[in-house]
Amino acid sequence: MLFGRKKRKPIKIVDKQVQEWKYAVCGYCSTGCSIEVGLNAEGRPVASRGKGSAPVNQGKLCIKGLFEHELSGSSGRGTVPLIREHTYDAYRECSWDEALDKTADEFKRIAEQYGPDSIAVVSTGQLLTEEFYTLGKLVRGVIGTNNYDGNTTLCMASAVSGYKRSFGSDGPPGCYEDFEQTHCLMAFGSNLPEQHPIIYWRLKEALEKRKFPVIVIDPRVTMLAQFADIHLPITPGTDLVLLNSLAHVIIKEGLQDQSYIDAHCNDFAAFSSMIEKYDPTTAAKICGIDEDMIRHVARIYAKAPSAMSIWTMGINQSTHGSDGVCGINNLNLITGNIGKPGGTSLSITGQCNAMGTREWSSCSGLPGYRMLEKTEHREEVAKFWGVDSSFFPAKRGLQQTDIFPAIESGQIKALWIVATNPLTSMPNQPRIRKTLEKLEFMVVQDGYADCETAQYSNVYLPGAVWGEKEGVQTNTERRVNLVRKFVEPPGQAKPDFWIFNQLAKRFERGQKMHFPESTSEIFDEMKMLSKGRGRNLDISGMSHDLIEQQSGIQWPMREGDSTGNPRLYSDGIFPTANGKANLLAMDYIENNEVPDDAFPFWLNSGRVVEHFHTRTKTGKLGNLNKFSPTPYMEMNPDAAAALGIHSMQYVRLVSRRGDAVVMVQPTHRVPRNMVFIPMHYHDCVNRLSLGLLDPYSRQPAFKQCAVRIEHIDQKEAAKLNVERRAF
Ligand code: SF4
Repeated sequence: MLFGRKKRKPIKIVDKQVQEWKYAVCGYCSTGCSIEVGLNAEGRPVASRGKGSAPVNQGKLCIKGLFEHELSGSSGRGTVPLIREHTYDAYRECSWDEALDKTADEFKRIAEQYGPDSIAVVSTGQLLTEEFYTLGKLVRGVIGTNNYDGNTTLCMASAVSGYKRSFGSDGPPGCYEDFEQTHCLMAFGSNLPEQHPIIYWRLKEALEKRKFPVIVIDPRVTMLAQFADIHLPITPGTDLVLLNSLAHVIIKEGLQDQSYIDAHCNDFAAFSSMIEKYDPTTAAKICGIDEDMIRHVARIYAKAPSAMSIWTMGINQSTHGSDGVCGINNLNLITGNIGKPGGTSLSITGQCNAMGTREWSSCSGLPGYRMLEKTEHREEVAKFWGVDSSFFPAKRGLQQTDIFPAIESGQIKALWIVATNPLTSMPNQPRIRKTLEKLEFMVVQDGYADCETAQYSNVYLPGAVWGEKEGVQTNTERRVNLVRKFVEPPGQAKPDFWIFNQLAKRFERGQKMHFPESTSEIFDEMKMLSKGRGRNLDISGMSHDLIEQQSGIQWPMREGDSTGNPRLYSDGIFPTANGKANLLAMDYIENNEVPDDAFPFWLNSGRVVEHFHTRTKTGKLGNLNKFSPTPYMEMNPDAAAALGIHSMQYVRLVSRRGDAVVMVQPTHRVPRNMVFIPMHYHDCVNRLSLGLLDPYSRQPAFKQCAVRIEHIDQKEAAKLNVERRAF
């Protein structure tokens, strides 16, 4: 019996008339889902579907991946190079030759007048890895500035720094398969269901097969916290205190894996002596977690046959970000949970190819995780590229967050922005606006001519985006995966590697070097550079075709191997001087801006599932924009009632830097002294944020600053909101 359904019409799925499916890996987050894009008879992308046999996503996609084909033909794309003498002039269209000649001439003039380090380059996590490699070759080998960085400093720098300090090298040691093997998962500041939905699906699937405890550490009751067995609502910025205290309990109660420590770790004595003072009674007063709960969680983690930790921006975006990462690594080292099935310390990355830039862009060193500080690395790369090794600096230059103050002080005169949008993404936006006005010359290279940062550029170079060029990306679990080209870029837009090659030809030094014309040739060059005894980042066994066949391959995959390797450091040997990992003794120092009488609320920020990368892409796509179009703020209902604020009312948030207007959504997700705002809206959270820097990673503490809330005329606020959306 159909119980009243007789008259209901069946749901009809529109036939998109797909003629051909093309392989790609998703261009949004670092989960790295394999996608097939359906093309109709005219070759237009009309559908996206997950690839069923792909190891990462097994046919699943989140809302962003499901609508990714709509990127083709989205509004705001740049289709022709633009130029202007002064930023207060209107842009005019120009030829590629004029735009590239102007850029090269200005870089040469400024280098001659002030020195090459007066030029800064800020790149992204959005390009293909072959493009990152080419950009690094151009910046390090031709232009010669040391002030070169990626926007990954805003999201992943603390993870990179922490891995290097603990293990001697960057590179997440674990994989998603570890969910299937683990006996305990601890997640720090990571809201998987919204930020990495398909990794969350992998976790849920593992939990359905075999139950294990899930512990979430987050000041906010995130979606992941709602599903957790234990939620620790920690005081913002105090992760290191909790981590030191967990280690204190484990060692006091003799729960550590002493044989692993003795065989594979340095400095246990100094570490165990430092954490003496982090007893749970003392720690509870700082981090806000009950002392018995600290003991309970420490015992669960240490007694599990295997246990893993994951983290995202909640750890990284802090003045103690790098220490927090090392604290997580310490926890896993003392419990013997590195490099074994289900036992790992896994940073969940942000952008689709943040790993690619870390591995190959030469931002923080030289390609393939080589270091500027090591003479043999400088000589190796110099010989391979055909440049004099003395041309390379012997240590890293400024990072993104130090480049902007250097513009303020007059040290940097020219800025080249590649596929990133600092006017929205950098903390303290009012200051960034004033800073950009001080430049003598600025170039923005981006797929979108309407990205906010282009307001300040002299030259705009239209880049091709996802699916308009071919090459690889690396995901969170070190899986190298392929994006096939399936559509032409609009108008005169060009692949970024083409732009880099054309610029190289305009410099004498670049004319003497070889810049391959295709990404498969560039990939072959990278493979050759990746070979070497003891090198983990070895991709010499891969090829574009093999990567597509296997729907992604995890490095290391050495020449002759049939596939990649899921884990690093399974043999307990680390790339440090003596092959052992470092247990780091790190004391907590309170150095954040904290709420006070004048600014009584913590301001917390993060991503919602519909948004990505300052909404340059997602703000244009129907369903993604429709579901989250208006800047809003989560506020505790009791705090709202105390201030006479109602649901859906606009308020003005004020910090010591600036103000922003948002709509209030009352929810118990946030405690009474905290508000939360999605981070990707322009003219919103970063008008307020302070962004104090982590001393090791130079990553800003986006998530810890203080604000107050003021009433605002509702009509004025609504008008402001409409104007903002029309921008
Ligand atoms: Fe793309 Fe990430 Fe969604 Fe997968 S989870 S479809 S990689 S945005």
